[in-house]
Amino acid sequence: MPALAPPDFVLPAAATPSLAVAGTGARFPLRRIFCVGRNYAEHAREMGHDPDREPPFFFTKPADAAFDAPEGGGVAIPFPPATRDLHFEIELSVAIGQGGADIAEAAAPAHVFGHVVGIDLTRRDLQAQAKKAGRPWDMAKGFDLSAPHGAIVPVADWNSPASGAIWLDCDGARRQEADLAAMIWPVAGIIATLSRLVRLAPGDLIMTGTPAGVGAVGPGSVLRGGVDGLPGVELRIG
Ligand code: MN
Repeated sequence: MPALAPPDFVLPAAATPSLAVAGTGARFPLRRIFCVGRNYAEHAREMGHDPDREPPFFFTKPADAAFDAPEGGGVAIPFPPATRDLHFEIELSVAIGQGGADIAEAAAPAHVFGHVVGIDLTRRDLQAQAKKAGRPWDMAKGFDLSAPHGAIVPVADWNSPASGAIWLDCDGARRQEADLAAMIWPVAGIIATLSRLVRLAPGDLIMTGTPAGVGAVGPGSVLRGGVDGLPGVELRIG
């Protein structure tokens, strides 16, 4: 097949969003960001839901909501607009290296490029309004700069998503602390389930849900979070 001529865009095409990969100058090109809702029973309860009756579900963020916020990097973002209740949610994110549809749970690990710590920043007041009105969550979850991440660690160097501590400190105080083993749906099950809803592609990132202890963060606060064995995430808000 002859090579296609490069498209003649009417505007400069946007740069490909990406995240740092630990131990290399190369970067992970992002395609889509999928997020799991209510994947830890205690968090489901603190949000007023019964984890036994409500299976996890998915929502999305734009790929360019993600940015590098490495521990010790001194990254700061402005306080986001349109909210008076900005919440942190520490999460393990999974970077997909090999795409596919209808992926069996046993085959899921082979589709993973690596793992990374992220924060699902949430405009909780907008989310509450959306829930009440039966409207989409997009503006609560998918706003600009809503997905700070540490550096991705390839599976050859860290591949322990089934257990290990996950935590977040706000201004030096421990606010979230749990074990990855408390996920209702483990990573392989998330990949299998999501791949029955969409065909996963290289560059997709899956945020796997947050444990209990989510809370509001004000201007000037510093968030710092981690998962045992992965580089941390850290950023100042406002
Ligand atoms: Mn979340």
